[in-house]
Amino acid sequence: MSTASQSQSRTPAPGQLTFVAPRRAKPARHLADLTMAERKAAVTELGEKAFRADQLSRHYFEKLNGDPALMTDLPAAAREKLATALFPKLLTSVRELTTDKGTTRKTLWRLFDGALVESVLMRYPDRTTICVSSQAGCGMNCPFCATGQAGLTRNMSTAEIVEQVVAGARALASGEVPGGPGRISNVVFMGMGEPLANYKAVIGAVHRLVEPAPSGLGISARGVTVSTVGLVPAIGKLAEEGLPVTLALSLHAPDDELRDTLVPINTRWKVAEVLDAAWKYAARTKRRVSIEYALIKDINDQEWRADLLGKLVRNKLVHVNLIPLNPTPGSKWTASRPEDEQAFVRRLEFHGVPVTVRDTRGREIDGACGQLAAAE
Ligand code: SAH
Repeated sequence: MSTASQSQSRTPAPGQLTFVAPRRAKPARHLADLTMAERKAAVTELGEKAFRADQLSRHYFEKLNGDPALMTDLPAAAREKLATALFPKLLTSVRELTTDKGTTRKTLWRLFDGALVESVLMRYPDRTTICVSSQAGCGMNCPFCATGQAGLTRNMSTAEIVEQVVAGARALASGEVPGGPGRISNVVFMGMGEPLANYKAVIGAVHRLVEPAPSGLGISARGVTVSTVGLVPAIGKLAEEGLPVTLALSLHAPDDELRDTLVPINTRWKVAEVLDAAWKYAARTKRRVSIEYALIKDINDQEWRADLLGKLVRNKLVHVNLIPLNPTPGSKWTASRPEDEQAFVRRLEFHGVPVTVRDTRGREIDGACGQLAAAE
């Protein structure tokens, strides 16, 4: 067993949920953890003028520069002090895998304590999406998900989440990614972890993503998607934040009997309750809720389930996103037959439900949630 895997959590028993992350040493404070006011206070505490907070923020969020040694407009004497206090190294790239002629790139990161997380950058002609992790591991234990099988190691900090986006933005800005220099338009919390189980840090990260510079990266809130297994009280809280981010709900089954096994949180909040929370979210934010449904051969892909799903979501502010299952190593499950997938789509369309089948980018680089970390 390697040092890295020793620092990961234990495998949970089937259906076992873990809400509270194990107690561990916290990552060091970083500029990206702080609001503008907190940055000013931190800089003042270090004996520097408050306007330095603005300067540092512009370097980090505008120029994507996280190394004070390169911030030559700061007095040399202050640079090292500020670097130690506000720019600790949080992420170390362990492995980079690219595919689609370099336009899809997956990075495996090691955190300060050896925990491993992943992010994936996907460039399309009209947008660039980064998929980020919000926890090292996950406590939600969905049996088809590689991360779920490994259990929860710990919550990530706001800055650890933001740093994944900044690293992606930097790669794009530098022209490293084919297609010329570019910017990130979309951030999806669909990497490792259950974002709503690490609520505070995730909300902090969303603020840093959507606030304009120098406070944050200035990404449109409409381009940010928070994906959840369905933590009902947290969905309600998110609706009240006044952040019009897109909510994605990982439903995967329209009936409680099957969903209890595929998404174990369903034993706590049933399909009807979680959909009710989703419709309230849509009403409050005016944002279309995305229903995620991984099509698993002969498990959840029957026409009668499509029909039931269609009846549950028709006439709502909704979009159904079907995902061909990306089989995890050792799993008995696989993606649906093409004819069953088509029949499922047709059933939903019959009910007038907007539906798309997600493209399967990054499959050959273990693009599915948690697969790269599991292989390390
Ligand atoms: N915990 C959150 C976000 C992370 S997973 C959530 O569950 O929504 C992001 C999406 O990928 C979820 O819809 C999840 O169910 C799906 N997913 C996980 N493993 C998968 C696999 N092997 N194949 C296809 N989709 C998968």
